[in-house]
Amino acid sequence: MQDTIFSKIIRREIPADIVFEDDQVLAFRDISPQAPVHVLFVPKEPYRSLNEVPASEAELVGSLMLAASQYARLEGFAEDGYRLVMNVNRDGGQTVFHMHLHLLAGRAMHGGFG
Ligand code: AMP
Repeated sequence: MQDTIFSKIIRREIPADIVFEDDQVLAFRDISPQAPVHVLFVPKEPYRSLNEVPASEAELVGSLMLAASQYARLEGFAEDGYRLVMNVNRDGGQTVFHMHLHLLAGRAMHGGFG
């Protein structure tokens, strides 16, 4: 697949405000935050979108979600709550084609989905 800005962040070629890392996942603050907390959880393996992830990688998808919930607990907003969003392709509003999970928190989210 084509290189994206997220692969460059993973390789530390461009800066980002990194808040979490393990073997499979890197998380950093969104450059254009839509909430007081807006963090992107990105698998180091550069899948273009969720559509390209094979069933054999179910653990990786779970790791993304669990990294987000662990971060919420560590940062102290797990009980107040948060929203996880993954945009897929054009109609999903995806703009960076390296799969990622948005974590939004720090304000009440409303019911709309755009
Ligand atoms: P999506 O529209 O789901 O593909 O989300 C892409 C997100 O990446 C957007 O919320 C952008 O603000 C964010 N973004 C783009 N470039 C950067 C960057 N260099 N560092 C951090 N976040 C970025």
